Amino acid sequence: MQSVAESPPKRGKRKPKFGDTRNLFASLRDHLASGAASLADIARLVAIGLLADAAVIYIARPGELLELAATQGLNVSAVGHTRLRAGEGIIGMVAASGDILNLADAQNHPRYVYRAEIGEEAMASMLAVPVKRAGRTLGVIAVMSREARVYAPVEVESLATVSMLLAEILAKAGATDMGEEGFSDTLPRRYSGHVLAAGIARGQILPYGAPPPIARLLTDDPHAELKRLNAAVETANKGLDKLFSANMPGGATSTSRDVLEAYRMVTQSSGWLTQIREAIEDGLTAETAVDKVARSLRDRMRRIADPYLRERLADIEDMVGRLMVALGGMAPKPERADGYILLVRRLGPADLLDWHSRGIAGIAIEEASASGHAAILARALGLPALQVDRGAVETAQEGDPAILDAEGGTLILRPEPAVTEVYDRALEARTVRAAALATYRDRATVTKDGTEIKLMLNVGLALELDQLERTGADGIGLYRTEIAALAAGGIPDVAGQAAEYGRVLDRAQGKPVQFRTLDLGADKLLPGEAGSGEENPAMGWRSLRVGLDRPAILRRQLRALLLGAQGRKLSIMFPMVATVEEFRTARDLLEAEAARIRPAPEELEVGTMLEVPALLFQLPGLLAEADFISVGTNDLMQFLFAADRGTPELVDRYDTLSAPVLELLEKLVIVCQEAGVALSICGEAAGRPLDALAFAALGITCLSMSGNAILPVKAVLVEADLNALRPVLRELRRAGAAGGSIREPLAAWAREHNLAV
Ligand code: PEP
Ligand code: MG
Repeated sequence: MQSVAESPPKRGKRKPKFGDTRNLFASLRDHLASGAASLADIARLVAIGLLADAAVIYIARPGELLELAATQGLNVSAVGHTRLRAGEGIIGMVAASGDILNLADAQNHPRYVYRAEIGEEAMASMLAVPVKRAGRTLGVIAVMSREARVYAPVEVESLATVSMLLAEILAKAGATDMGEEGFSDTLPRRYSGHVLAAGIARGQILPYGAPPPIARLLTDDPHAELKRLNAAVETANKGLDKLFSANMPGGATSTSRDVLEAYRMVTQSSGWLTQIREAIEDGLTAETAVDKVARSLRDRMRRIADPYLRERLADIEDMVGRLMVALGGMAPKPERADGYILLVRRLGPADLLDWHSRGIAGIAIEEASASGHAAILARALGLPALQVDRGAVETAQEGDPAILDAEGGTLILRPEPAVTEVYDRALEARTVRAAALATYRDRATVTKDGTEIKLMLNVGLALELDQLERTGADGIGLYRTEIAALAAGGIPDVAGQAAEYGRVLDRAQGKPVQFRTLDLGADKLLPGEAGSGEENPAMGWRSLRVGLDRPAILRRQLRALLLGAQGRKLSIMFPMVATVEEFRTARDLLEAEAARIRPAPEELEVGTMLEVPALLFQLPGLLAEADFISVGTNDLMQFLFAADRGTPELVDRYDTLSAPVLELLEKLVIVCQEAGVALSICGEAAGRPLDALAFAALGITCLSMSGNAILPVKAVLVEADLNALRPVLRELRRAGAAGGSIREPLAAWAREHNLAV
C-alpha cells in the first residue's frame, strides 16, 4: 500500500470511537470555499473525519461504468484506471441498487471482486454510499477500515451527507472534468404487497412525496441557518395550531389542545430538534440538517417493533416533513401523469381522485389496506392499486419501467424482458376473461338450488353510474354521499346536493338506491382538513356522530335527498350507528324534514348500517324501528376484532370467513327474517366471490359491492348449489371454532365444484 502524507489516525487497541463529523463538515466547507478542492481532498477529509483507514470515490462514466476517481489510503496509481461495471463488485452493486452497504467483512461478501492494482487487501470493513442526484446515480463514495467493524449510524449518516455534497459538486462539474451524466439503478426490484384494487398496470413509475433535491448543502453562516430553522419551526407550529383546530368548530377544544400539547411534547422533547441544531452548527444548511436527521429517524423507525414508539417517531417524521416544506417547499404535482404508476407512502381519497384526474394507470401505496377508503375508491374507479412493502418509495426513480401486479400482489421495478412478456400474456388473458364474464350481465342471479340473490352496487360518484348498465346490477345498495363531497373539495349546498341525488335516481331508472348520509372523518377528510388529531379517529368524532352534534349539516343533507327524490321512493341509511337512540334521533330529523318537503316521496325507507358491534345487542329495539339493515363489514370487522382496517400488518389476520363472523351473520339473518326487516351486506367482503357464496349459504339474499365485483360474484353464484354447500360450511365452522380463517378449505370445496372463486 502506498504511503500518504496525511494518514488518518492509527486505531491501535483503543475502543472504537465515532468520527468527528463537526470537523469533517467544517473542513469540507473551508476547502470548498477556497475553490481549489479536489475529489482527492474530499476522500482525504472523509477518511480523517470518519476515522477510516481508506476512502475511495468512484464516478459514473459512459457505458454504465464506474471509474476510480480519487482515493485516500489506497494506490493512487489506480485512479483513472480501475473501472467496474454497474452491478460488478460491491461498489458496482451499490451504484446499481442505490442501497447503502455497511459490511464488517467486505472481502467475504459474495459480490466482492478483487482488483490487485488498488491495494485494498488489508481492508476488512467497508461502508459504501451511492452518490445520487435527482434519481441518477453519479458515483459511489466508500470508506474502509482494517478492523472488522460495522460503521455506526452517525457515521453512515455523515457519509450519506457527504455523498449529497459530492452529488452537487459532480452535477455542477458536469461532463467536462469530473462526472458524466451518471446512470440510474438498473437492477430489477420486486416489492410484495397486498392487493387493494385488482388489476394489472404497465407503465413508468412516478414516486411522489419526496422533498426536492437540496440546492445548498453547507453553510459558513450557521447563525443565519439557525435563524431560518427557527422561523421554519415557528411556521410549522402555526400550521399545527391550524391543523388541530380545523375540524373543531368553535376553535380548539380542550381535547384537541391536549392532543396538540402531547404532540408538541413528543416532537420537542425527544432531542431531534437539538440534533438538527447540532448538525447546523457542524456546517450543514438547515435543509441538509433536517434531511440528515429525517434519514436517521426513518432508519430507527424501521427497526422499532413497539407500535406506540413507532407512532411517536411517526409524529416526529411528520414534523420533519412540515419543516422541510416550510424551508423549501415540496415539488408540486405534475399537470398530467398519463399512464404513470403512482408510488406514494400514504394516500387519502381526495388525493386519489386528484391523481386519477391526472391520468394515472395504477397506484402503489406503502401504508394502506384493502378496506381503507383510498382502496375503496380505487376499486370504484377500476384503478389497480397495491399496498407495497416499505422501501419502494425511496428506491424507485421517476420514469423507471414498472409492472403493478395488483392480482398477484407485486410491484416490479425495471422488470426483465422475459417478465414483461409474461405480463403481456396475462393482460391478454384478462381481456378474454372479461369477455366471458360479460355474458352473465343480463342473467338473473339465481343459484342452482333456485335462490335469488340481488347484486347491488357500491358507488359514490356520478362517473360510476354507468356501471349500472355495464354490470347489469340490480340497483345501488350503498351510495356513499361523502365521496362526491371529497371530490368537490367540500359539501355542496342543498341545491347542489339535491341535483346530484336527483341525477342518481334518474340514472337508476326505478332500480332501488340506498343513500347513505355523510360518513366523513377518520380517513375521509375533505381537502384542507388535516385530521382532528384524535388518537383513534376511526373510533372518534366521525360520521353520524358529527351529523347528530351538528344537526344543521345533517338536516341540509336530508332536505337535499327529499328534494332530489321529487316524490319518488327514497331509501336513506345512517352510518356508524351505535345505539337505537342515535338511530331514532337521526330518523326524527329526517321525518321533521320530510314533513315540510313537497312532493313527499311515495315511500320513505329508513335503515341503518350495522358497523358498530354494540348494535348487535340492541336488535329487538332496532328491528322495531329500522326498515332495513346493511352490514358494513369493513368497519364491523375492525371494531369486532379491534383491528384497525388501515393497518397493513393486520390485513390477513382476521377473516370474515371465520366461525365468529359467520355465526354473527347467521343469527342476524334469523332475527331479521323473523322481524321482516331486509338485510344486506355492503362491506367489501360482499364483493369477494367466496365470501359472497358463504353469505348466500347463510341466507343473505342481497349483496352490495363495487362494480368490478358484480360479474365475478354472479358467475360463481349462478353455478353454486347452496344446499350442497350448507353442510360443508357447518362442518368447517365447527372445525374452525377457535376463530381462525376457514377460507382455504372452503375455497378448495368451491374449486372442486368448478366455482371460479
Ligand atoms: C363498511 O364499513 O363496511 C362500509 C361499507 O362503509 P365504509 O367502507 O364506507 O366505511
Ligand atoms: Mg363504514
